[in-house]
Amino acid sequence: MIPALTASLATWGATAVGAALVFVLPRLPVRGMAALLGIAAVLMGWAAIAGLLWPALTGAREAGVPGLAGAVAAVAAGAWAVSAIRRRLAAVTGHGPVLGRQMALVMTLHHVPEGMALGLAVAAASQGETGSAAALVLAMVVHNAAEGALVSIPLRREGMSRGRAWMVGQGSGVAEVAGALLGAAAAGFAAAVLPWALAAAGGAMLAVVVGDLLPELRALGWGVRIPAALR
Ligand SMILES: [Zn+2]
Repeated sequence: MIPALTASLATWGATAVGAALVFVLPRLPVRGMAALLGIAAVLMGWAAIAGLLWPALTGAREAGVPGLAGAVAAVAAGAWAVSAIRRRLAAVTGHGPVLGRQMALVMTLHHVPEGMALGLAVAAASQGETGSAAALVLAMVVHNAAEGALVSIPLRREGMSRGRAWMVGQGSGVAEVAGALLGAAAAGFAAAVLPWALAAAGGAMLAVVVGDLLPELRALGWGVRIPAALR
């Protein structure tokens, strides 16, 4: 619990620092926003593969269970769960026409599964189940700093005061702490299924990249089009 709490407090702090960019660069051009989104997407994809899926496969192999089929199923389950939650929420909230509010919503919500993945990986590593989670935490710290700025800067551009825009930006990171504690708790009583839990968390993170970050990048006029069926 303690390592997961520490790691998620670090990522929340990074979100707050990133959101504070609004005080320095309140008018970041679209190209800069796209660069931040690209950084966030690449780091998250890397964290999902190197920090979650790889330890999941290694853990499964060490436990002597056939890894690949189970891992693929778990990844698909995690991705499906995130996608299902997103569709349900979109039905309730609609798709916001204003970038800042949409970013605030997307970033806040995805920090729950992201935090669970982080908490799970950190707790697993601290129990000696898998390798070190330090690189994963570092990647997520930088990733969250970019995301904090992605919330606060559009809000400022759309007329919110800098102070409020920062508050909303850093607030989007709080969900990660709650998620991390949930993930760490799951790692505690689910040691036997830990590789599958890690794989599902990796799938959830990849779903956030494909379903949230890349479409936002596309909305800014950059990147590739993601077919609706894949989100
Ligand atoms: Zn994120």
